[in-house]
Amino acid sequence: MQTVDVLVIGAGPAGTVAASYLKKQGYDVTILEKEKFPRFQIGESLLPCCMEHLTESGLREAIEPLNFQKKTGAAFMRGEKRCEFFFEDQFTKGWTWTWQVKRADFDSKLAEATRAKGVDVNFECEVTAVQCGPDKQIIDYNDPAGNPHRIEAKFIIDSSGYGRVLPRLFDLSKPSAFTPRGAVFSHLEDKNRTEKASNNIFVHSFDSNKSWIWAIPFSDGSTSVGIVGDREKIEALAENGGEKYKEFVKNFEDLGGRFSDSQFKFEPRAILGYSIGVKQMSGEGFVLSGNSTEFLDPIFSSGVTFATASGLLSAKMTHRHLQGENVDWKKDYEQVIQKGIDVFRSYVSGWYSGDFQTIVFAKYIDEDIKRQICSVLAGYVWDQSNPFVKKHDTILPTLAKVIKMKEKAEEANS
Ligand code: FAD
Repeated sequence: MQTVDVLVIGAGPAGTVAASYLKKQGYDVTILEKEKFPRFQIGESLLPCCMEHLTESGLREAIEPLNFQKKTGAAFMRGEKRCEFFFEDQFTKGWTWTWQVKRADFDSKLAEATRAKGVDVNFECEVTAVQCGPDKQIIDYNDPAGNPHRIEAKFIIDSSGYGRVLPRLFDLSKPSAFTPRGAVFSHLEDKNRTEKASNNIFVHSFDSNKSWIWAIPFSDGSTSVGIVGDREKIEALAENGGEKYKEFVKNFEDLGGRFSDSQFKFEPRAILGYSIGVKQMSGEGFVLSGNSTEFLDPIFSSGVTFATASGLLSAKMTHRHLQGENVDWKKDYEQVIQKGIDVFRSYVSGWYSGDFQTIVFAKYIDEDIKRQICSVLAGYVWDQSNPFVKKHDTILPTLAKVIKMKEKAEEANS
């Protein structure tokens, strides 16, 4: 039976970052990936914070020559209202830009660069069963021809994303507290794109903050456009080959005709009910990273950044564990990742309750507050010196309440 130090399930951003970091520490690392790459994946707008994780794992250099679309900020809109954030003007000292990527190309390059570092990356190999123990983990998988194999590892990092291999096998998933939502999306020709629209993700809120639409521009002139909303709404937009989705994207007033004569590059796809939690992120012989842990919502583009953050931290903890240290997985891994997730949870709740919009679309927004919110939007959700991180659970509703009271008083006085 083949034996390795670390077996990583999945070659997405979480898996490749984890595997590359561990290879750098001298371990024998194997990745088993179910799909043949390149494969489509959603999650195209990155956050500046993930550049740190790509750099530390030694993968950023491999991505640079692909000339992905540079992303320097995020613009939120609701009808006539508009608020733009620029990552160069933020509270936390960190990366001021990142990329918007077609994940088929991005993930393929990550996997190729990971393999070039000496990681054994195996495509079309689906993990089917796992037995965990204190020192020895047994993994069953099927090769591309469907033949079963067994591999032994000292430790497993589950980075299987929406596949959620270990949460499924070990019954670790727990339902999300969020309303079940969905998304329908495609890539479109974008001939009417302005210079401004090239560097930013555009997010339009509508339907009394219950729905929103994203426009994520790519460097080849095409743009990803997706609609997010309650499950029933998305099901209706997606039926009959996404007929109503297409109509909506062409005619939605707030998009100002940007896609009115655009060609759709592929038939719209829908994903429903993606928000999910997890009871624990580690156990005897394994750790979960990326979407195998918890996925909240796409609104603030946090998924890939959490994948790279948790991929990197899970690898660092695995390294310490394999060095014989008594790792406190709850404190040093789960609580750290959970802290970041909880910050974004408050912002996602604030988005759908309308508090976030009340703040960013207010007549006046204090520049310091804007900088602090900007750092959250850049993914720096572990910076406890930022009040919008530290007091994440109370600050949005409190500030929104004050703004509403002030606006009401102004209205009464006018
Ligand atoms: P993945 O990228 O899913 O990679 C996991 C890999 O594991 C896959 O390649 C899969 O084939 C493999 N795998 C699965 N099962 C098995 C198995 N049994 N054996 C072997 N391999 C297996 N995030 C952003 O950052 N920005 C965005 O703009 C954004 N938009 C989104 C929009 C929507 C509608 C949704 C639902 C999500 C969005 N996300 C976004 C989130 C993003 O898609 C994920 O957070 C991100 O892809 C997670 O990366 P990962 O490495 O954990 O998993």
